[in-house]
Amino acid sequence: MRQETSPLKAGPQAPIYLDYNATTPLDPEVFEAMRPYFLEHFGNPASGQHAWGWTAQAAVEAARTEVAQLIGADNEEIVFNSGATEGNNTVLFGVYHQCRAENPDLPIHIIVTQVEHSSVLKAALSLRDLGVEVDLAPVDSEGRVSPATIEKLIKPHTRLISALWVNNEVGSINPIREIGELARNHKIYFHTDATQAVGKIPVNLQELPVDLLTFSGHKIYGPKGVGVLFMRAKSPHVTLHPLLCGGGHERGRRSGTLNVPAIVGLGKAAQLERLHGARESERLSRLRERFVSQVLETIPGARLNGPRHDRSPINMSLTFPGHPIDTRLPRLLKLGFSTGSACSAGRTAVSHVLSAIGLNEDDATCTLRLSIGRWTTELELTTTLEILRDAFASN
Ligand code: PMP
Repeated sequence: MRQETSPLKAGPQAPIYLDYNATTPLDPEVFEAMRPYFLEHFGNPASGQHAWGWTAQAAVEAARTEVAQLIGADNEEIVFNSGATEGNNTVLFGVYHQCRAENPDLPIHIIVTQVEHSSVLKAALSLRDLGVEVDLAPVDSEGRVSPATIEKLIKPHTRLISALWVNNEVGSINPIREIGELARNHKIYFHTDATQAVGKIPVNLQELPVDLLTFSGHKIYGPKGVGVLFMRAKSPHVTLHPLLCGGGHERGRRSGTLNVPAIVGLGKAAQLERLHGARESERLSRLRERFVSQVLETIPGARLNGPRHDRSPINMSLTFPGHPIDTRLPRLLKLGFSTGSACSAGRTAVSHVLSAIGLNEDDATCTLRLSIGRWTTELELTTTLEILRDAFASN
């Protein structure tokens, strides 16, 4: 497939990148598509008077079409921005300001899940300081929120439900259709942070009751610092107060000169996902299944967090009870992974996701997240298994 194009170092001494949930390498084809837009095609797409502007504008619109096709949206529903953090903040603060502008006297209630990315959670908590009622919907032991849990929290003045699609830490997949239907029945905007879903599982907004959706380019082999906010145009026509005001770019929904090379890259990345994403996800699911089975069978006490099967094709969150990751780092040097807790100023900060699914602090410190992607090979996973066995199956 696309494996021969790897931008990663290969060979027995090369480190093994297993952090595709954090970011993906840029696909070399994406880089080639971007290159001319740094150099000869430097125009501002808002310059309607000359060819430099027209060239840039045409490139942005071609990218918009690619992104729209990937997620089953119309072009006018795609707003380019700097990434999911901005998109998520735009949704939460945008709903707030919109509601306030429409009627300053009405109370506002929003529901977000307990396991959202911090760009949703912290924005929700800031809204609380502004007088918004915020409920954090609890999740089950695999990290999923149930529509019934959300339904119980709905109030007459609920204006937004936000539930991430695929969990970035434990790989669980939320029932987006059911939550969306619930929201629609109550005429509440429904937002999903799809940063870990797009390109990994089918995302077709033509047939899903999602009003707002956000994601970042750098999780789908595109560049960093660029992303998408999908805003449904019809039934309902979603209106949000913009976070960034200015020159009225993106139909007034996100001002600021467009980052043309990054948008072109995002368009190319979306095209590659559309053409190859399904097969890639199948391959990665198979690799992940086999690797997880081998870990659970050969490392005593090892546990997988999140669901065993119906999960992100790329994510594996593993706990090795009794083996704090910190104490095993010298044996894990070859692997690029992330941990379930971080130490800062002598205190251990346990991931809010792991806490929400019931892990205690000890187990969270014994947890690591491995995530695979386009250029992960079977050989790399065989080596990784040996490294994990050396680190966690011995003393
Ligand atoms: N949401 C989720 C689920 C994520 O995994 C991330 C990135 N870790 C973000 C939002 C934020 O993305 P960015 O840093 O590109 O804005």
